[in-house]
Amino acid sequence: SRAALFDAENKVKITFKDVAGLEEAKEEIQEIVEFLKNPTKFTILGGKIPKGALLVGPPGTGKTLLAKAVAGEADVPFFSLSGSDFVEMFVGVGAARVRDLFKQAKAKAPCIIFIDEIDAIGRSRSRGQMPGGNDERENTLNSLLVEMDGFATDSGVIILAATNRPDILDSALLRPGRFDRQISIDKPDINGRTQIFGVHLGPLSLAEDIDARKLAAQTPGFAGAEIANVCNEAALIAARRNKKAIDMQDFNDAIDRVIGGLEKKNKIISPEE
Ligand code: ATP
Repeated sequence: SRAALFDAENKVKITFKDVAGLEEAKEEIQEIVEFLKNPTKFTILGGKIPKGALLVGPPGTGKTLLAKAVAGEADVPFFSLSGSDFVEMFVGVGAARVRDLFKQAKAKAPCIIFIDEIDAIGRSRSRGQMPGGNDERENTLNSLLVEMDGFATDSGVIILAATNRPDILDSALLRPGRFDRQISIDKPDINGRTQIFGVHLGPLSLAEDIDARKLAAQTPGFAGAEIANVCNEAALIAARRNKKAIDMQDFNDAIDRVIGGLEKKNKIISPEE
């Protein structure tokens, strides 16, 4: 169905306050919020507003969340699709989907287009190709490049894309006038994790001994997505134990469970045929 081609949210409720830590990234991306809110202020002296920025960082660190928050802060619609949806697509479908996305976005400008996992579409065209393989991905990438070049910088559409593999991206995507800005989103340090726990503990019923900083100290290497996961697991574990409030024992078990899940995921490096 047409509705399933990509996601469109007209009213985004997420703002910067929902994104914990990432202070530098927020500061850099604030510029894009201003471009969306007040484009003529920037173009008056002949300057061109950038078309897009690339959010670079490991999985689960809040790239999607931050892109959404830009839309929420600027109060503009948010269109999104994931590069992985384009893998194994029928001939012509990927390119058509990209064209359709840009057409609808332009009609709703100012707005944000967010492309998650852009490396699935945008990996370098020269990289390890099998004869006859990857043609469709290449068509999709070409249509993305054509669309990016085809709209005026004052059209009010800004494209944010996310990847954890900037090194494999086709250099055509990184050329001036395309994704010529990169914003790096790193895994949180202990202060970042404390702030992320702060956000996700907020809505929970907690025992008195629960403290964001203590939890942050126990979760080195965790990204925001894993911290959100720990908080949710702890709430479910405590509920199963018929507790009135989530205590440290529940959090310890939740942390073990999330670490277990991560270890399992890392083991599946090359699935057996
Ligand atoms: P991926 O690369 O896997 O798509 P991502 O970097 O886009 O991941 P998100 O999808 O934004 O990560 O994060 C997943 C969830 O983790 C968010 O919806 C949120 O609940 C939580 N989260 C991640 N980072 C943060 C953060 N900085 N502050 C608050 N919550 C966060």
